[in-house]
Amino acid sequence: MTLANHAFQDMTADAILGQEENFAMALAGAKSNQFISPEGEDQAWKAVVGRDRGHDGKFVFAVSTTGIYCRPSCPARRPRRENVRFFAHPENAEKAGFRACLRCRPRLLSGNPQSDVIKEICRYIEQHLDEPITLERLGKAFRQSPFHLQRRFKAALGITPREYADSCRMRQLKRNLQSGDNVTRAMYDAGYGSSSRLYEKTAAQLGMTPDKYRRGAIAAIIRYSCTDSPLGRMLIAATDRGICAIQFARSDGELIEGLKREFPFAVRKRDEGGLQEWVEALLTKMTGGELNAALPLDIRATAFQRRVWTYLQSIPFGATRSYGEVAKAIGQPSASRAVARACATNPVAVAIPCHRIVREDGNISGYRWGVERKKTLLEMEQRQLR
Ligand SMILES: [Zn+2]
Repeated sequence: MTLANHAFQDMTADAILGQEENFAMALAGAKSNQFISPEGEDQAWKAVVGRDRGHDGKFVFAVSTTGIYCRPSCPARRPRRENVRFFAHPENAEKAGFRACLRCRPRLLSGNPQSDVIKEICRYIEQHLDEPITLERLGKAFRQSPFHLQRRFKAALGITPREYADSCRMRQLKRNLQSGDNVTRAMYDAGYGSSSRLYEKTAAQLGMTPDKYRRGAIAAIIRYSCTDSPLGRMLIAATDRGICAIQFARSDGELIEGLKREFPFAVRKRDEGGLQEWVEALLTKMTGGELNAALPLDIRATAFQRRVWTYLQSIPFGATRSYGEVAKAIGQPSASRAVARACATNPVAVAIPCHRIVREDGNISGYRWGVERKKTLLEMEQRQLR
């Protein structure tokens, strides 16, 4: 297969932040307590006074004079201590009649402190793309040692904060280019500055010069076809280099909506006849038949996704692996959550068989196109083997 370097969108940041649900799934952990003790309140107040980001997600504070509740790091002016009440979760504050602050949006936090801190670090990086973001600086902002911060970040997301910042800049640059900005402006607004050295570095990462990318992104044409499959309606979409999307849904309308969301800048053309061969190949693959030739793919992948997806393609028909086994197999045994996320962001169902990844206890969970479809696929494979 070919994982082409020059398709239309960078999935890194989308995979991490664009899909809150996947993120929550990948980082799900124990919820903290419902109540805050009196001793805890003193500490909580200290965190509020210090606008301590490290406490975001651990509790919220509500102000009786305004009727609004905030996260500890909210930039708004501090209220008087006697007007403040503390709650473990936004829900508790809302039950007591408070509304969420529009400025710090405390609702965005899940109540799982560890994953919330990671999300907060991501947001912080996104907001400071045009400045050098060192580990020391992040450590200071989040009150953690740079070493631990980097290790926890990497364990959760599979990449370092610096790589995350790079991918955000790249994603922003692509968006700017896709929406027609000129190259200098697009680079500047993505936090690159405008030196020629950066231009060259960016060209290497894009796989072409930004100017060429700009023209290509705007002119891209995607052909697609909707058809019946054992899993309901199936859409296959392709560029002139290969298949860029394989999706399932209940109706064609849903499928086409999804394609529009994924490739907003491409010209999308229905083409049932031209894609017939690939449609048949895919249906054959689903039921265990042999293919004469590999299906060409034209999808974007981060280095990590590429490793996971390539490994997935080596899992035999009818077999399954756990997230942990995949993590071990690609040499990152502690990255099973990142593996789960890579599976959840697979753009081409069946062609990259992410349905063969199950939980450690063998249970079937988490599938981008619904658990029922995952079950059906695995049952079909089991039947063929018998
Ligand atoms: Zn606030």
